[in-house]
Amino acid sequence: MNDIDDKLPLMTEIWDDTLSWQPSEQQQQQFQELYQQILLGNRQLNLTRITSPLDFWEKHLWDSLTGMIGLAKIDLKKSLQVIDIGTGGGFPGLPMAIAFPQWTITLLDSTHKKIAFLDNLLNYLSIHNVKTLLGRAETIGQEDHYRESYDLALIRAVGKASVCAEYAVPLVKNGGLVVLYRGHWSQEDTAHLELVAQQLGSKLEFIKTLQTPISHSIRHCIYLRKYAPTSPKFPRLVGVPNQKPL
Ligand code: SAH
Repeated sequence: MNDIDDKLPLMTEIWDDTLSWQPSEQQQQQFQELYQQILLGNRQLNLTRITSPLDFWEKHLWDSLTGMIGLAKIDLKKSLQVIDIGTGGGFPGLPMAIAFPQWTITLLDSTHKKIAFLDNLLNYLSIHNVKTLLGRAETIGQEDHYRESYDLALIRAVGKASVCAEYAVPLVKNGGLVVLYRGHWSQEDTAHLELVAQQLGSKLEFIKTLQTPISHSIRHCIYLRKYAPTSPKFPRLVGVPNQKPL
């Protein structure tokens, strides 16, 4: 088991070469504290199997921040409203919140224990630009208070791409962006997702293929742009998107 005093690597050059970004000292400190708290939380909850400092750096920090690559057209300095759907232990939302303190990030998850863990962690880390939300994406996406109210939605490791799109697109504003974090991706995946995106009032704008810098695994970030209000039919009732994917 890893020790909570293990130090995360700095990786200054890799940050810069791959994402044209580097953490400040304060951000590095916050990453370190996040790592410690995730290791502690893991003793009670099954948050992640990724626990060595190098793995955590690559698969949680670096991987979470790859989503920013395709955001070039967004003014990153603006105070964006962002939602991370099915955030689990806080990924990709928490690293994004640390990297972009001017954003307001909502971490949504349907598991009470995970949200309780995140609430504690946020208190401990004094991260002030993050809120938590307990609920199912299918329900939250039908509530006026949340529907079409985010500039950006992030979703990683929650299900099939079409399911993720059905959860995410209803939550973003017209003109807003959805980032689907995927592993392998094929042309058939693109062809299918284009049809699904259209049904939801969005279009597949951009796909970024990446290799993780240490283990050289393949990653894709898929960017969907919303251009019209989503039909009230979507998201469908709890469980239906997953049982009958579009
Ligand atoms: N995004 C994280 C966690 C992935 S595990 C990461 O990449 O590490 C998937 C998480 O999504 C779980 O915590 C689960 O509780 C949550 N989840 C699954 N379906 C959901 C839904 N319909 N609405 C909200 N959360 C959901």
